[in-house]
Amino acid sequence: MRRIKKVGILTSGGDAPGMNAAIRAITRSAIYNNLNVVGIRRGYYGLVFNDMVPFDSGSVSNIIQQGGTILKTARCKEFISDEGRFEAYKNLCAQAIDALVVIGGDGTLRGARIFAEENDIPIVALPGTIDNDLGGTDITIGYDTALNTIIEAVDKIRDTATSHERLFFVEVMGHMAGYLALNGAIASGAEAAIIPERETEIDQLAELVRRGFRKSKNSAIVLVAENPATGGALGLAQRIKEEFPEYDARVTILGHLQRGGSPTAADRILASRMGAEAINALMAGQRNVMIGSQNGRMVYTPFTMAVTQKKPIKETDIELVKILSI
Ligand code: ATP
Repeated sequence: MRRIKKVGILTSGGDAPGMNAAIRAITRSAIYNNLNVVGIRRGYYGLVFNDMVPFDSGSVSNIIQQGGTILKTARCKEFISDEGRFEAYKNLCAQAIDALVVIGGDGTLRGARIFAEENDIPIVALPGTIDNDLGGTDITIGYDTALNTIIEAVDKIRDTATSHERLFFVEVMGHMAGYLALNGAIASGAEAAIIPERETEIDQLAELVRRGFRKSKNSAIVLVAENPATGGALGLAQRIKEEFPEYDARVTILGHLQRGGSPTAADRILASRMGAEAINALMAGQRNVMIGSQNGRMVYTPFTMAVTQKKPIKETDIELVKILSI
């Protein structure tokens, strides 16, 4: 087994609160293990265009509490081409980087998987996305903070919804995944969650109206996962106008504010544990695995499984929202 001497770190795809805590943990654990560290800027873009900076322990001071990512992030189309990835590998060799830790979502993992198949370089990934839509881990870095942002916003919307006796559709992010909407609904006491996972089975809006939530309440809040197929919250409000005009429906799209903010304690701890585990994994000769947290324990999932495994929504949580909204 080749001994690793220099580790490169990058953050890619959508930013997520806690990415900085992960960068800090990877850097400091690497230095603790006598490895050199290089920060790669703007995700795969920094690899392809050779935008890298040496990191020492002080490079990651005072960042654990900051949202976003000090390394910046980007969506890099050049990395999708063979030529782009070849440039990236040449730059890694020129910098003598002999292992990579990448932090990002589904797309970032797909990129890492292809790069690892083509080149002899060990890569470990951390799941960093507010969507929580990756298999191989119960929870992703950034998800808890985004949930907390959502409940804070919904608490405020509830005041006006109650006063005006309105139906509010609050659209949350989720990239075709209903975790934020469903658990946001449980945590904020919303009347319903409309999620992409159930889209093909049932007309969720019609079901909501059929349930007759007006019987016991004068206002309602429905969390809606963004979904181009239904038009998200705006699409649902339009349907209400046309099909159920007796309801006074309003829309709030939370948008990018869900990505920002200081990470919660849960996200800081998760990112710190995963960051340290990434270095443990590399030192132990692991390659091409994603670090996950399952039942409170750190586990390794091969990239091939992490990108194909779907993490199903819990049916019992869907039921819970219904039960608690009577
Ligand atoms: P989020 O879940 O927040 O959207 P993500 O990691 O899924 O994050 P993407 O934009 O899908 O974000 O992917 C990040 C980057 O990964 C892309 O910009 C691209 O550089 C790289 N990438 C994605 N898919 C591939 C692929 N098939 N081949 C090579 N690189 C890829």
